[in-house]
Amino acid sequence: MGKIPVWNPAIEFIEREALEQLQLARLRQTVEWALKTPFYHQRLTEAGLTRPEDIASLRDVRNIPYTTKDDLREAYPAGLLAVAPEQAVRLHTSSGTTGMPTVIYHTRRDIEHWTELVARCIVATGATARDVFQNMTHYGLFTGGLGLHYGAEQVGMLVIPASSGNTHRQIQLMKNFRTTVVHATPSYLLHLYEVLVNDGMTREQLCLRKAFIGAEPHSEQTRRKIEELFGIKAYNSYGLSEMNGPGVAFECVYQTGLHLWEDAYILEMIDPRTLQPLPEGETGEIVMTTLQRQATPLLRYRTRDLSHLMSGHCPCGRSHRRLARITGRSDDMLIVNGVNLFPSQIEEALMKIPEVGTNYLIQLEKRGSMDRLVVKTELCAKLFMGDRQTLDDLRERIGERLRSAILVKPAIELHQPGSLPVSEGKAQRVLDLRPAF
Ligand code: AMP
Ligand code: ZN
Repeated sequence: MGKIPVWNPAIEFIEREALEQLQLARLRQTVEWALKTPFYHQRLTEAGLTRPEDIASLRDVRNIPYTTKDDLREAYPAGLLAVAPEQAVRLHTSSGTTGMPTVIYHTRRDIEHWTELVARCIVATGATARDVFQNMTHYGLFTGGLGLHYGAEQVGMLVIPASSGNTHRQIQLMKNFRTTVVHATPSYLLHLYEVLVNDGMTREQLCLRKAFIGAEPHSEQTRRKIEELFGIKAYNSYGLSEMNGPGVAFECVYQTGLHLWEDAYILEMIDPRTLQPLPEGETGEIVMTTLQRQATPLLRYRTRDLSHLMSGHCPCGRSHRRLARITGRSDDMLIVNGVNLFPSQIEEALMKIPEVGTNYLIQLEKRGSMDRLVVKTELCAKLFMGDRQTLDDLRERIGERLRSAILVKPAIELHQPGSLPVSEGKAQRVLDLRPAF
């Protein structure tokens, strides 16, 4: 593959031992910062941690209590601010996918550190200062807009801050400015492709070569679909506002898992039920500690995101460990007539079926005492024939495929391309109409 593109070789290829020393020093610093907040002052004192020196080794991170999203909500709006208000230069909130928002403050240096992480990610995919970068995620409180924007400018790309939505205009911008790299949610990119085709255009009229996709769970099949439809490479981007936003973990040119920047975060994997650490390779919940954020340090934050650590080394040679694709959240699990399943399993099975289009919806209803799972899916424009027998057969085939994937046979509804609701941000894939109890 020739020379590997790298933004900051000294830190990206750092020896593990040196990395761990750096982590320890930064963890102590972070504990010192955290002790300045009312929330952590109480939490840490209760755990017997009153000085940074109480952290003797990296393993001592386990003596620190976990922080949850509920803790962040309770501390809203300023209970976790660790600097004088005049030192903070920006705040972001989470999108509130699962409830009330949480707030994270940044100092100027925090923003610089975050920007550096995003720059590393961008360059790791092979994108360069010669690229034209169109950022199709929302600019505002959501971190995907400004987060990627700053990193891309740092790399020296020409940045088009298109923000989200207005798909016709997105396509015009891509055409007029010869956009080579985009950042979007995977569901939005699939939608954009349909609009492109409906507008009578082809991918050859664009100059696109790469996409950064993230902010929502998606399968390997969805990534491939995006790559094939556009004829590009799509790189998985993982981040969450509590850990700044994008720039936490990203795929490199080899696309073999997401390198997580361990000089900026301590990564732990735990069993979400027992809260015990898991050995490498086992799937569990990602827990992270910030190491470089002064305004809102977070210690052992329970992300609820499920993944596992990949073993071995990436051919790129970076020493930072890799996360596997996020398979879901420990709190988006659906229970359908006693069977546990994740929306991502349904998506994975659906996207393997060539007739299935780009948008789908999972609906849960109650019929008597039984749950009913309905999967509504759009058909692919090319294959939509409308012949009744063919559609009946297809419905049956999709139902069977899903049954073997999730052990529940859903009712299948087929919809015309473009007829299911589209979200400009994170897709709302699950509609649970069951009464609470
Ligand atoms: P927010 O804080 O609003 O940016 O939302 C962050 C959440 O989005 C994460 O905790 C994940 O659940 C989800 N997320 C972000 N990136 C990805 C990704 N690449 N794959 C799967 N889920 C993701
Ligand atoms: Zn790599």
